[in-house]
Amino acid sequence: MSPTPARITAVDTFDVRFPTSRELDGSDAMNPDPDYSAAYVVLRTDADDGLEGHGFTFTIGRGNDVQVAAIEALRHHVLGRSVEELCADPGTLNRDLIGDSQLRWLGPEKGVMHMAIGAVVNALWDLAAKRARKPLWRFLADAEPQWLVSQVDFRYIADALTPQEALAILQLGRRGAAEREVLLRERGYPGYTTSPGWLGYSDEKLTRLARQAVADGFTQIKLKVGADLADDVRRCRTAREAIGPDIRMAIDANQRWNVGEAVEWTRALAEFDPYWVEEPTSPDDVLGHAAIRKAVAPVKVATGEHVQNRIVFKQLLQAGAIDVLQIDAARVGGVNENLAILLLAAKFGVPVCPHAGGVGLCELVQHLSMFDYVALSGTTENRVIEYVDHLHDHFIDPVVLRDGHYTAPTAPGFSAAMRAESLAEFTYPDGAFWAADLAQGKGAAA
Ligand SMILES: [Mg+2]
Repeated sequence: MSPTPARITAVDTFDVRFPTSRELDGSDAMNPDPDYSAAYVVLRTDADDGLEGHGFTFTIGRGNDVQVAAIEALRHHVLGRSVEELCADPGTLNRDLIGDSQLRWLGPEKGVMHMAIGAVVNALWDLAAKRARKPLWRFLADAEPQWLVSQVDFRYIADALTPQEALAILQLGRRGAAEREVLLRERGYPGYTTSPGWLGYSDEKLTRLARQAVADGFTQIKLKVGADLADDVRRCRTAREAIGPDIRMAIDANQRWNVGEAVEWTRALAEFDPYWVEEPTSPDDVLGHAAIRKAVAPVKVATGEHVQNRIVFKQLLQAGAIDVLQIDAARVGGVNENLAILLLAAKFGVPVCPHAGGVGLCELVQHLSMFDYVALSGTTENRVIEYVDHLHDHFIDPVVLRDGHYTAPTAPGFSAAMRAESLAEFTYPDGAFWAADLAQGKGAAA
């Protein structure tokens, strides 16, 4: 008797919130008091291997109320499906979720529903990589170019990138992949750190952390700006004095400005030699970014952590609006859409420097950059992955930084799984931390 094929038996969700607002970790010009949070999903199966698929998307507190509900609205698409079939072709699930006509009305392919799709799709990729006993970066790097092309949805981007072009890029990317994999395992992938530069930190803390970043081997730091120009001038001067002239310093306005303000403010900080200005204005304003880029050169323009899908990225590239493309592992529709975006960036020759930090975003996005290096763009030149040094201890397979570089993960999967103790403590509102907190009447997240 042949065994029954394994099925997805549960899509469990968790509302996980960390009280980061109390230390002003993560504070920036638009988000003064974030509680870093994850809308977290676990796919369970009845397979004998006991493997689960873990995924999540990042919010900063009360957004989780809505985000978890959005993931739950997708449950019926996943329950009962064949594990084997889904893992052989995650693109099928991606298309089914995007194609839900009743939920599509809430997008299409943007915002809360799209982030929910990303969480579920990424959980499936985690499961697929675990079943293949490979870290996701290697699962992708070992995949046939033709199969990778089949995982990309070319709808709305074929005017900028055809499947034939994508295949050619991936076939070229395969050349020398084995040598690059050896280099990656030896050296890791370069990172940069945002930890010194949160807006709520004192100048003393900024100086201490900026010096520490250089001592830790980082060649780039980033400062939050955009709330008060006089403060920004002082903080940029302080940071530049702490790191010296040779370390790159990026500035990040988190969408604070109008186009004209972005130009004036960036010019006012130009004497401190910022390497890029990040999210100078709305992530939807393609032409605004193009205008800013023209006006603030040679300061580079970077964006992407809030760019909602491959279609907006396509336009940013077509319009010559950005110098640096910042993918986020949990903003768009999961690995499939990020494959499309990495391919677009390669086609247009724009370096990808991922957004990370948050909860688990470093853990996820390192896999995409490492795959890109080994088997797509083939380079780390002018490429760095953001690093923020908190909340990693909640993950079973946390990132490991060595001399300013992300070391290549070796454990199978997408490094997405959180520790059971962390889920038990920080699930909102019933986890041990929040239950005690709410009982004391603090209720910071309420
Ligand atoms: Mg940013």
